[in-house]
Amino acid sequence: MEQTLAIIKPDAVQRQLVGVIISEIEMNRFAIGAIRVLRLSADQAARFYREHQGKPFYESLVAYMSSGQLFSLVLERDQAVDEWRRLMGPTDPAKAGPLTLRRRFAIDMQRNSVHGADSPATAAREIDFFFGEGA
Ligand code: UDP
Ligand code: MG
Repeated sequence: MEQTLAIIKPDAVQRQLVGVIISEIEMNRFAIGAIRVLRLSADQAARFYREHQGKPFYESLVAYMSSGQLFSLVLERDQAVDEWRRLMGPTDPAKAGPLTLRRRFAIDMQRNSVHGADSPATAAREIDFFFGEGA
């Protein structure tokens, strides 16, 4: 059993896609270990994505991720990190397979509906960000 951190991003919440995405999560045998609904401040979004600081899309990404409510979830199953990234598809929805969440729901490369941690170590850090002491 492994944990990963998922986010249903503001574009998906705003378009009322939370139910269908959670349904896909459960259909793919993830258990939901924790869930939180919140809106990030710009400072919090900047901290969450600090690894991307300096990249051309960073400022816009921070503004978008703090633009509305999001759902953060702890997902649990075997190979949770890789399996969740597989279900999401790649960052660019145009390159994503037909059954992936990003292909089905993303608007564009930025507003790509879902987030997933990229390794077990990142998952632990991101779970702490949303669910740890003082989160
Ligand atoms: N992003 C973007 N433009 C890019 C690359 C990324 O707007 O050229 C956004 C997009 O929302 C992406 C997030 O920044 O999900 C984080 O980028 P990363 O490369 O970590 O992609 P992910 O791990 O989300 O697939
Ligand atoms: Mg990433």
